[in-house]
Amino acid sequence: MEENVRVRFAPSPTGFLHIGGLRTALYNYLFARHHRGDFVLRIEDTDQNRYVENAEQDIISSLEWSGIEVDEGPQNPGEFGPYRQSERKELYKTYAEKLIEKGMAYYAFDTTEELDQMRERLQKSGNPSPKYDSITRQSMKNSLTLPQDEVQKLLDEGAEHVVRLKVPRRETIRFEDLIRGHVSFESKGLDDQVLLKSDGMPTYHLANVVDDHLMKISHVIRGEEWLSSTPKHILLYQAFGWEPPKMAHLPLIMSPSGGKLSKRKAESEGIPINTKDYIEQNYEPEALVNFLAFLGWSPGDDSEIHSMPDLCRLFTLDRVSKGGAVFNHKKLLWYNEIYLREQSNHQLAKRVKEITDNKQILEADDEKLAKAIGLVKERVSKVEELITMGIFFFEDPSEYDEKALKKWGDDSAGLVSDYQSRISDLSEEEFEAATLKSKLEEVINEHGVGFGKLMMPLRIAVTGQGFGPDLFTSMELLEKETVLRRIDTALKKLG
Ligand code: GLU
Repeated sequence: MEENVRVRFAPSPTGFLHIGGLRTALYNYLFARHHRGDFVLRIEDTDQNRYVENAEQDIISSLEWSGIEVDEGPQNPGEFGPYRQSERKELYKTYAEKLIEKGMAYYAFDTTEELDQMRERLQKSGNPSPKYDSITRQSMKNSLTLPQDEVQKLLDEGAEHVVRLKVPRRETIRFEDLIRGHVSFESKGLDDQVLLKSDGMPTYHLANVVDDHLMKISHVIRGEEWLSSTPKHILLYQAFGWEPPKMAHLPLIMSPSGGKLSKRKAESEGIPINTKDYIEQNYEPEALVNFLAFLGWSPGDDSEIHSMPDLCRLFTLDRVSKGGAVFNHKKLLWYNEIYLREQSNHQLAKRVKEITDNKQILEADDEKLAKAIGLVKERVSKVEELITMGIFFFEDPSEYDEKALKKWGDDSAGLVSDYQSRISDLSEEEFEAATLKSKLEEVINEHGVGFGKLMMPLRIAVTGQGFGPDLFTSMELLEKETVLRRIDTALKKLG
């Protein structure tokens, strides 16, 4: 077990929480709990242009729904706040200035036109990817090239400027990634990174590094798409003279048809992309969590069903895979089925009443609803299917399933009505599954036909559907009057 573990989930509030974001949050949370550390939520909202109202609320409610508990965050600040970067603006400025004092960063006053001209000039002289780097910075308008009094004058006048990091000319930046092992990048390919923008806001890189340091983050666990930012962060840690946190980059989530699971891909493949969609579509949170935990990680044996506490106990970074993890929607439904069945019939009855607007179900007796659910529960994978499959317990069929009707043959009416007359003699008490079944056997034996010959038409008449839960138990629950009425109607309609 590692000591003093502090991890953070650091989303930008630019939209609804993506399923990949939720997995990142989950892995951070599992890691924190495994090591009895802290899980911090930090809102990275320094990009005003991409800010989306309510996105923060969506992030918070999505985490809550998933059972991921935030130890410190905007809602429950600890000693390292504030937890929204927009509320820490002044801090980043101070730290950018510290780097300037140390000679690790500088003010740059170049206008957009001047930057364009520089790029054009370099491109013409055969440089396909011109950069603002250790070479070009020498001929640009910045605090390294201008005399000091002029720099001061420009600053006093409030001239537009940014702060840039002095990226070393030729350096190999190395770090150990806890998932990918040894990683190295050449500084040659990097621009002198902008740290503070002209509006005084920090860039992602500066804010992220300053906050991870000040919030005493021990491990940075994030998606692979941030891997290329890490060398910039390492340079920043070096410039400040700080120890960087340990790094772990999670594998990409892939679409079943190959490639990264983008929003567009997900849509075309019928995969919900935002956590909110899963909430609205009534997925079981435990199922989504279990599924996401296995999307890039496994406990190393063939066990697959694990609750959150189990996952916290089992989760280690060395079992996270490097390769992309394919999103398998069928597998998610399989998990959903399992977690659905784990709930008691009464619990599910309550859920069903919460999500339906069907009057009959809303007014149904809880006991009967729970019994009906018990009968269909084994056959569904989503909670709302309990309603579609079990609705016949509460409503006479208004139409008959077309495919099922093909099984209504010439002799069906005769067989059904014979059965009807036999069961109409039963008293209320006798109207129970075993007797109802023995009556059916009587009919088929006397007529010398197979079981299905009567069973199918009877099911259609009573439920309107071609498949469903055990018919005799269902009829018992429906009670005599309803069953006889439905058979009457079917005989009239289907003849
Ligand atoms: N704000 C970044 C995001 O939106 C954070 C990346 C990181 O974890 O460093 O995911």
